[in-house]
Amino acid sequence: MVTDIFSSMVFDDATMEARLPKETYKALQRTIKQGKHLDLSVATVVANAMKDWAIEKGATHFTHWFQPLTGVTAEKHDSFISPKDGGKVIMEFGGKELIQGEPDASSFPSGGLRATFEARGYTAWDATSYAFIKDGVLCIPTVFCSYGGEALDQKTALLRSMEAINRQALRVLKLFGNGDVTSVKTTVGPEQEYFLVDKEQYDKRKDLIYAGRTLFGAMAPKGQELDDHYFGAIKPRVAAYMKDLNDELWKLGILAKTEHNEVAPAQHEMAPIFSTTNIAADHNQLTMELMQKVAKRHGLVCLLHEKPFDGVNGSGKHNNWSISTDTGANLLEPGETPYENAQFLLFLCAVIKAVDEYQDLLRISVASAGNDHRLGANEAPPAIVSMFLGSDLSEILEAIEKDVPYDSREKEVLRIGVHTLPKFQRDATDRNRTSPFAFTGNKFEFRMLGSSESISCANTVLNTTVAEELRQFADVLEGAEDFEAALHDLIRQTIIDHKRIIFNGDGYDASWVEEAERRGLLNLKTTPDALGHMLDQKNIDLFTSHRVYSETELRARHEVKLEGYCKILGIEAQTMLEMVKRDIFPAMSKFTSQLSSAAATKKAVLPEADCSYELETAKAIADLLGEAYRAAGKLEADLEESRGIPEIADIADYFKTTILSDMDALRKSVDAMETMASAEEWPYPSYGEILFGVR
Ligand code: ADP
Ligand code: MG
Repeated sequence: MVTDIFSSMVFDDATMEARLPKETYKALQRTIKQGKHLDLSVATVVANAMKDWAIEKGATHFTHWFQPLTGVTAEKHDSFISPKDGGKVIMEFGGKELIQGEPDASSFPSGGLRATFEARGYTAWDATSYAFIKDGVLCIPTVFCSYGGEALDQKTALLRSMEAINRQALRVLKLFGNGDVTSVKTTVGPEQEYFLVDKEQYDKRKDLIYAGRTLFGAMAPKGQELDDHYFGAIKPRVAAYMKDLNDELWKLGILAKTEHNEVAPAQHEMAPIFSTTNIAADHNQLTMELMQKVAKRHGLVCLLHEKPFDGVNGSGKHNNWSISTDTGANLLEPGETPYENAQFLLFLCAVIKAVDEYQDLLRISVASAGNDHRLGANEAPPAIVSMFLGSDLSEILEAIEKDVPYDSREKEVLRIGVHTLPKFQRDATDRNRTSPFAFTGNKFEFRMLGSSESISCANTVLNTTVAEELRQFADVLEGAEDFEAALHDLIRQTIIDHKRIIFNGDGYDASWVEEAERRGLLNLKTTPDALGHMLDQKNIDLFTSHRVYSETELRARHEVKLEGYCKILGIEAQTMLEMVKRDIFPAMSKFTSQLSSAAATKKAVLPEADCSYELETAKAIADLLGEAYRAAGKLEADLEESRGIPEIADIADYFKTTILSDMDALRKSVDAMETMASAEEWPYPSYGEILFGVR
């Protein structure tokens, strides 16, 4: 039964309460809920209880589970054993081991924060995220930092950003008389898209193996044009996979809720019920890991790449984000009373202002080589950041801005803090899937995230930028003589200043690109373009003033992002060269000679026979082969050239312009050959076989 297995592998609250002495449990709760320091004596008792519990569940090892800047999780296992007299061992796990670890971490990306001679990195327990058992290992969620205390992971900044928004939101809430609220947290429900392909076919494609996406491949006769896959009946093999996946996720306390087929053939989605942001981030990492692991058991491979196939949709993550209080209120839920409404509008305005002023950071937070294939490439949301509010809410804002009645039948203009907001519809066009940042009734859906990336970075930016706007609002309102008048003016002015970011139309439409430009919105098409803004003074000021990143940390992350981009493109280019040189060119050379000899034989035996297929195909392929050969030569020479560029930002630019266009040119002639080559001679499974191969 689901209720029996749910959270069975998690040292969750109920387990803690059952297994810890009352005082220890209470002390730990204070750490979890209020961030109070945890005494070593308390940690020792917790560690011991955790160990006993884990051993009962079959665990033999423990690990500090963390999220380095690689985008995947890291773990180094230590067994519980400790030698005892007489050659025996006992199972031990101390408070110190629970609280802190010291992995040799020299090989994780640090953006220059940690020279390899100072390889020590520290991990420290994040008690707000429960420990869990995975593959016989007790996993303790931890943060990861350098000897000097700089964050080397995704979690530290995310936790700091949650503190930042907590601080500022509490100030604002106090002004509205919410004295009972003691903590504010953001919540996230990340919808995860993925592809499933057959493992046998995957194993035959070097590009999928090395790059996670196809680097060659002519489109199949059928793609997604019939929309017959979206929400379609789930094939038995996929259904079995989903069932198995759900079981694994549930055991880890992950609230897997919705599953369905997505738009592209072989594409699917899983959405969990939302939770606190840092838990959601941990759970999303685990979800991605399990999606891949469970697939193997079913003879499948789960592709998390943003764009595994050209010509059909890529995969993203929809990050549903909201802000809620420990008293159970969702601050992005329009209220019933005038005061609640005013508060809602103020939080809404904070988000509007944040998205407008930090478009660049939001774009940067989702920037990766993989995601560049989606954003700005006529699918998913465009690279331009804008907000969708729906027509009703937009009209309310317009009425406030213009000081006119919202409803023409009414005479009175809306006074914030006095009047109740008119009930507005959760806009039916909330299915406007082209908006990168859509209000969906009581939360925002940030849709630009790539499917393979950690959600931490995007949420760190969201939390921090909104915290900054709330800080500014609180500064104004705390000093106001007439609170209601100041509030009204603040909301009205924010709408006037930032309405350019609101766009309810079709984000795929070419006219939007021009319109956005007229409005002065950014259109950062590629990762290097976006990263060019990361270290702008306003961004450094933002992160340092809220103590989310120090300037050093921010510079390090900039470096890591640029390096990651270059490394990925480098691997892709090398993979293409290996594929053409070792497989495709020899196969096509052989195929042309087969055709030529077939034609020669035919002519000899049947002098009158028509040999146009053999001769014309041989000629066309030979021409394309020559073209592709030269394109490969150029790619190789340009790659060599890139090795001489000293600055990482310049290498990234060079990859973006020269290398990517070399890769495109090579792919073009190779894909053209594929459409003419015999299926038998083509060295790789085709798009059709892969996309429709899972039956
Ligand atoms: P809709 O269908 O309107 O998009 P759903 O209720 O299906 O909304 O939710 C989509 C995702 O948003 C789910 O993962 C859900 O858990 C999440 N979600 C719902 N409410 C919130 C909230 N307050 N904060 C964060 N995520 C939320
Ligand atoms: Mg979706």
